[in-house]
Amino acid sequence: MKPKLWLTVDSDDIRHIPRHQGHPKRSKKKLAEPYQVSEPSPDLLLGMKGFSKWIDDGGSATLFVIAEQLESPEFSKWLEELLLTERILIACHGLSHRSWSAWGEDTEGFSHALADATLRLKEFGGKHWRPWFRAPAGYIAPWMAEVLAVHGYRVDSSVNESWLTRRKTGPLNSWAAVKTAVKEAGIVEREWLINREFGVKFPVCGPALHIPLLKTISKRSWRSVSLLEKAHPIEVENADCDVVTVYWHILDHARKKGDWTPPFV
Ligand SMILES: [Zn+2]
Repeated sequence: MKPKLWLTVDSDDIRHIPRHQGHPKRSKKKLAEPYQVSEPSPDLLLGMKGFSKWIDDGGSATLFVIAEQLESPEFSKWLEELLLTERILIACHGLSHRSWSAWGEDTEGFSHALADATLRLKEFGGKHWRPWFRAPAGYIAPWMAEVLAVHGYRVDSSVNESWLTRRKTGPLNSWAAVKTAVKEAGIVEREWLINREFGVKFPVCGPALHIPLLKTISKRSWRSVSLLEKAHPIEVENADCDVVTVYWHILDHARKKGDWTPPFV
């Protein structure tokens, strides 16, 4: 049987990314005024508009949301309207986009933040909420798997099994160790699509869509899966189903003056 395709989108604003916050070493750069506040930045607003248009044109996706974004009336209103289209599911992209595995093991801290984030997203999403998790900036370590299970998560989609991203699993860890821990916790792992054409595993999702060379490889990979049938939520949660997972960002839709769309065809 052919694999199914799962489309996923992360809601990050510019202030959430590791360069600006949440990472012990990478977060250094101070943001200009309009990007510091909790309301969406001008770029995110443009991205939100572009994403809504993509949905209106027939798109559908799972949106991994950073729970604190719901504090913004503008963001919440936009998300509420999206939910009314019945083409969106909501899942968890953390409370504040902290790069957990970069800080060392902190089961208690992660558990508290996850409880808070889950409560907010679940209440907001109602029937559109799914207990699925994506680690902020892809920073996941094996110790996080059990915490996810305790909070009722059934799917994790944080593994980006590329040699370029191995350090995101924390000191002395590996993607294999993360996958084993997730499986042992009874959670289904939905890894991001990677490209294996050249004998090396290249990332083709998220930031890779815009990095020279990776961008070209990414487009090839996305085109090769673009005609696959979309995965049903039940299939996403079923470890026996073969599901190809791709992801991009709401912010991507701010590119090309708001006309950007994911590179499927
Ligand atoms: Zn993110």
